Amino acid sequence: MAVSVPLLTKDQIDRPPDRAREVVEYRKSGLSLNHIQGCPLGCAYCIRHTYGLWDKDQPVALMSDAQAIDELVAHRYFQPHVTPIQVFNRATEPFLPKVRPHTYAVLEELDERELTNHILIITRHQLKPDDVDRLNRFAT
Ligand code: SF4
Repeated sequence: MAVSVPLLTKDQIDRPPDRAREVVEYRKSGLSLNHIQGCPLGCAYCIRHTYGLWDKDQPVALMSDAQAIDELVAHRYFQPHVTPIQVFNRATEPFLPKVRPHTYAVLEELDERELTNHILIITRHQLKPDDVDRLNRFAT
């Protein structure tokens, strides 16, 4: 899977607060996947400041999409077909032009693995008819 946003080096990944480096986060409502972080939109209610990431106004990748999905499915609270998954709902906007390829890469990989877990994606961005068609093509 290609990386569309800059991939941080090991040294750069070590700099953000611990909480921001936790790519798969347990939440009562499921597991949240956040290997892309940073957003230029500046919504006043954005929660990325609670992870120490308010100054990160451009999306960067902490790891590849494939590595992130491997971490997700290996998480101790992940259950195939059961655990709800939230994608990029903490520190970036999943349909920013640069983030969008990663959002689809995650969805495609989960679909290829025939995982039927419910997936939550929240967006403030404009969805194009192509997006609707693409999203509707996912089998699971
Ligand atoms: S779009 Fe999302 S990540 Fe970006 S500033 Fe707004 S709430 Fe934060």
